[in-house]
Amino acid sequence: MTAAVKSLHPPRALADASLVGRDRLAALEEVAARYAVAITPAVRRLIDPADPNDPIARQFVPDARELDLQPEESGDPIGDAAHSPVEGVVHRYPDRVLLKLVNACAVYCRFCFRREMVGPGRGGLSRAALTAALDYIRAHPQIWEAILTGGDPLVLSPRRLKDVVTRLAGIGHVKVIRVHTRVPVAAPERVSAALVRALRSDKATFVVLHANHPRELTEPARAACARLVDAGVPLLSQSVLLRGVNDDAETLGALMRALVECRIKPYYLHHADLAPGTAHLRTTIAAGQNLMRTLHGRYSGLCQPAYVLDIPGGFGKSPIGPNYLSADGALVEDFRGRRHVYPPRQ
Ligand code: SF4
Repeated sequence: MTAAVKSLHPPRALADASLVGRDRLAALEEVAARYAVAITPAVRRLIDPADPNDPIARQFVPDARELDLQPEESGDPIGDAAHSPVEGVVHRYPDRVLLKLVNACAVYCRFCFRREMVGPGRGGLSRAALTAALDYIRAHPQIWEAILTGGDPLVLSPRRLKDVVTRLAGIGHVKVIRVHTRVPVAAPERVSAALVRALRSDKATFVVLHANHPRELTEPARAACARLVDAGVPLLSQSVLLRGVNDDAETLGALMRALVECRIKPYYLHHADLAPGTAHLRTTIAAGQNLMRTLHGRYSGLCQPAYVLDIPGGFGKSPIGPNYLSADGALVEDFRGRRHVYPPRQ
């Protein structure tokens, strides 16, 4: 994990880098004792310490409000544990599984839905557990897609990634391998030629980039994404709707356009999960639906992600609108908000 070597971890280091005031240190030490903290040099460079509302800082710099827990929040907000037949595997939907290889990330997002499970030194799947996980996938022919997640699988060495990809690709019924990562943004230098080669196999491999603000798509991040796309690895994106980060139409639209310009198709806009201590970062679903309406009205179809909610308890993702069709199906709304009878009267 070379990218993490120069990362800022304890709140003291954040104070030394002028990212937090020393008067906040005691509270932030308490936050850091509970939830992992890491900010890579690439992310550090994006933060403007003079801006108290910096949208990048809001995502990565710990905040005392993380100690305020709400009754509806949960350490496992999307119910991974209820669908984990063997260590490292989450089998929620019939045709796909999550394979959680590692519990570390290059950066730790303050809104992370797995924040109680990820952190430096939390390790990952042992060799024996990985073999058992692959045996499970092999024994279930309905599994068409394997999704590498974690933690962030791209903190692993190219050698270890190659080993996993090769073994997954060797399972006949696994046709698609999907990799969820924040590394091209958080540590673009890790997306080396060796790492790109490690992801390639004779199966379709997609990389899903997690990015939440257009400023994250720096030149090095764009170059890292281009290395993947140029090598024949299609890119999709997932973003989390976050208060004070991307909950306005201009920022969200600029993010989606920047992604498409990088040949990354926006895939999901997640409503923020009920992770512990994250209420200050969540918006309402009504606000999210209004933003989606604005995106639909102003931006190309290529810039439209699906707005989804992971239903607490492990029931899976559902698209949550907005809806353009009246309940009886007789009226459909256009992008300007005008209603039309369907089918048209003759
Ligand atoms: S990179 Fe993903 S798994 Fe890691 S802290 Fe951020 S949201 Fe959580």
